[in-house]
Amino acid sequence: MQLEINDQTVADEARALQARYGNLEPMDVIELAVDHLFNEEIAVVSSFGADSAVMLHMIAQIDRATPVLFLETGKHFPATLRYRDQLIAELGMTDVHDIHPLKQSLKDEDPFGALSMTNKDRCCYIRKVEPMARAVAPYRAWMTGRKQFQASTRTALPVFEAVGARVRINPLAHWTSADLKAYMAEHDLPPHPLVAEGYRSIGCMPCTLPVKDGEDDRAGRWAGSDKTECGIHLTGLTDELSNISLTDSSL
Ligand code: SF4
Repeated sequence: MQLEINDQTVADEARALQARYGNLEPMDVIELAVDHLFNEEIAVVSSFGADSAVMLHMIAQIDRATPVLFLETGKHFPATLRYRDQLIAELGMTDVHDIHPLKQSLKDEDPFGALSMTNKDRCCYIRKVEPMARAVAPYRAWMTGRKQFQASTRTALPVFEAVGARVRINPLAHWTSADLKAYMAEHDLPPHPLVAEGYRSIGCMPCTLPVKDGEDDRAGRWAGSDKTECGIHLTGLTDELSNISLTDSSL
């Protein structure tokens, strides 16, 4: 019999996990989550962006078969797609999923591929939020590479947090830019090729610019607009997930 897991139960669980394990080092958080807390019911969402190699390398040390979910928006830099293939091969990850927007949504709402120029929130919804909800629906938890230092909007980011009836884990939440650089150097990890051109947070090509010294890492995302997040980390995802059963496997 499937036990009903309600949002309040998971919110309490996430708070308890944060209180007990929120100060662990990233590798310990990942090992705890993958091997003990959410065994075979956990995935990692990766953008294959500027810092993605760090957490993927840690996960590869623990379990190369951990599902890796990549939102293939159709708007990435070609360099990101090449970097994704390179990292997957070098780290030996064996279960990587490209998550595409629904064909019907593209046909109905973005037939010319220019929606990002007229309605960025809607473009992010059909290319990221809805696909993300579909992607994480089969799992009880997923990991992200978000860090507190990346933006003023992320300074209170916890390691464990509830998203509806699921748990989102941010193992690198407390790490600094220096921590990431040191880890990359120690393990000789390849950088995203656009980092050398001043890109410090890398998303879709139409909405990403390089940043200047002293700016937030994410200042180049949707630069010139009020938008700071695509929505996959905001309430839109919770709303979308609330329509999908925990046992839904429509990946
Ligand atoms: S980041 Fe830009 S191109 Fe990518 S989904 Fe959002 S609005 Fe569209």
